[in-house]
Amino acid sequence: MQIQDTLNIPDSPMPRLVIIGGGFAGITLVKEISKKDFQIVMIDRNNYHTFQPLLYQVATGGLEPDSIAYPLRKYVKRFGNLFFRLADVSFIDASKNEIHTSEGLLGFDYLVIATGGRTNFFGNRNLETYTMGMKTVPEALNLRSLILQNLEKAIVTKDPFERQALMNFVIVGGGPTGVELAGALAELKRFVFREEYHDLKMDDMQVFLIEGSGKLLGGMSEKSSHKTENFLKNLGVQVFLNCRINDYDGKKVVIENGSPIPSENVIWAAGIKAAPVDGMEQAVSQFGGRLLTDTYSRIKGYDNCFALGDVALMEGDANYSKGHPQVAPAAIQQAQQLAKNLKRQQQQKPLLAFRYRDKGSMATIGRKKAVVDFAGLNFSGTLAWFVWLFVHLMSIVGFKNRLATLLQWFSNYINFNSALRLIIRPYKRN
Ligand SMILES: Cc1cc2nc3c(=O)[nH]c(=O)nc-3n(C[C@H](O)[C@H](O)[C@H](O)COP(=O)(O)OP(=O)(O)OC[C@H]3O[C@@H](n4cnc5c(N)ncnc54)[C@H](O)[C@@H]3O)c2cc1C
Repeated sequence: MQIQDTLNIPDSPMPRLVIIGGGFAGITLVKEISKKDFQIVMIDRNNYHTFQPLLYQVATGGLEPDSIAYPLRKYVKRFGNLFFRLADVSFIDASKNEIHTSEGLLGFDYLVIATGGRTNFFGNRNLETYTMGMKTVPEALNLRSLILQNLEKAIVTKDPFERQALMNFVIVGGGPTGVELAGALAELKRFVFREEYHDLKMDDMQVFLIEGSGKLLGGMSEKSSHKTENFLKNLGVQVFLNCRINDYDGKKVVIENGSPIPSENVIWAAGIKAAPVDGMEQAVSQFGGRLLTDTYSRIKGYDNCFALGDVALMEGDANYSKGHPQVAPAAIQQAQQLAKNLKRQQQQKPLLAFRYRDKGSMATIGRKKAVVDFAGLNFSGTLAWFVWLFVHLMSIVGFKNRLATLLQWFSNYINFNSALRLIIRPYKRN
């Protein structure tokens, strides 16, 4: 087939496999796939892979952003016959086997869409405009700046109502991100802000965690959920369950059946929707806009286009009728399976259907406070915290990043403090 190309990829006798997205699914596929069988092109709008589970630590000054981001060029350079292009993919023309990007056109023989998810504000414009998201490194850095800027403003304002709004932190969404962020903010208040902002009445700083359902960490066991609630309450977090946010105007959070909360710091951790690329509309499902695939990750209606990870909704895995959870292990396992199947397809062997192996869940609330559900066991406290630290440390991409994270954690543990509370790039709402 004549392949269109304005991204300067050399011609090759091998079929071209284009991967959109260098997240967990994209980098796993690159690692696992046979480089002898394909010319591989990875495209991402960022030149780095983000380890999203630790974004909240960047936002709360516990880790440098460099520790959780890894350059994609450095990652792909160790594999031969692989090209990386920094570009934003805007449209897929599957009828012509080509994609449209910010840098031009690229043809493909096989296409893998692994573009992940984005924040879901459920159509509420105000929430989108005024709350802070936390899905990318720039968003985490914005949040870090906002927290510090608002405390500085709280010191100088003479208006007690404004001061309270600047010191109220409202986190919407009681999943792992919301829980971890609430715990981290409560610990910052207790161990760091109290000392550093001695001219501010720190008892006035309030952390609210608002969850629409009746339990925190909805995907975890009742026991872990209760334990988490207790950990947070002991840290002084005000937990509101069965509570929905109706609106937010940048100053005041309007709650269904409750009094409004004045706050200039509202963090939205309540929803995710897929980030598919235009052109695949016929395969977009009603559930969070994810792309429907069969059990071989093939997008419905296409033989040579695949979707992996958060953007995909796989049909046919009996235990997951509404798709797999949007977590890193699902993205990684799907990519591993697709690599095997592409090899089998080349060898004209039958394809293997995907089955998700749930390896358990965990979340950390703070120092020596974590919950783990694993193989039917639920445990919490110090042991769970060390398990959480170990699993996350080992999952970070790159030895240097792992080492930097370990050293930073060790230093934070010993000193009860970290020196990353810098407003390098002040946050300004657009
Ligand atoms: C704050 C947070 C905390 C999380 N915590 C956990 C956790 O503790 N445990 C867990 O298992 N999971 C966690 N997750 C979920 C986990 O990070 C995702 O399930 C996982 O990243 C999905 O991998 P992916 O490869 O599908 O997508 P991603 O990792 O999101 O990668 C998508 C990539 O595609 C690129 N991209 C997107 N659109 C385009 C485009 N149009 N053009 C070019 N490039 C594009 C992006 O830049 C990105 O690099 C968390 C997620 C967040 C946001």
